[in-house]
Amino acid sequence: MRSEGDTPTCWNCGYELSGLQVDDVCPECATPVWSRRAFDPFDQRKRAGQALAWSIAALVLLFVCLGPLAGILAVPAIMISTNIKRECGGDWPHDLNNARAAWWIGWVAAVLSILFVIVYAALAVSGVL
Ligand SMILES: [Zn+2]
Repeated sequence: MRSEGDTPTCWNCGYELSGLQVDDVCPECATPVWSRRAFDPFDQRKRAGQALAWSIAALVLLFVCLGPLAGILAVPAIMISTNIKRECGGDWPHDLNNARAAWWIGWVAAVLSILFVIVYAALAVSGVL
């Protein structure tokens, strides 16, 4: 028995496809049932650019001594670039190196901002600050 979330729907129009065969077409819009949403390189490039912008903003905040805020800005950079990677089958295409860069910069900014908080807390606890 299928649960509610498993109901197959048309990727194009959202029409429920339960009961149809894989070689049928969607009764609503005639999209083949077996097909998947086409690659949208333009959209991916746009989002890769956004991810890079987030990660650079995170890095800038890190260097103006707002470490914890850098971690917050790094999150969308990592999430957007990870999504692009998953859509492309687990690897970034060669023309989306900025998505790869955003992922790395995002992680570096996130880890450094956590270290920043730890060091700050340690200094505060030990009475240096
Ligand atoms: Zn449809």
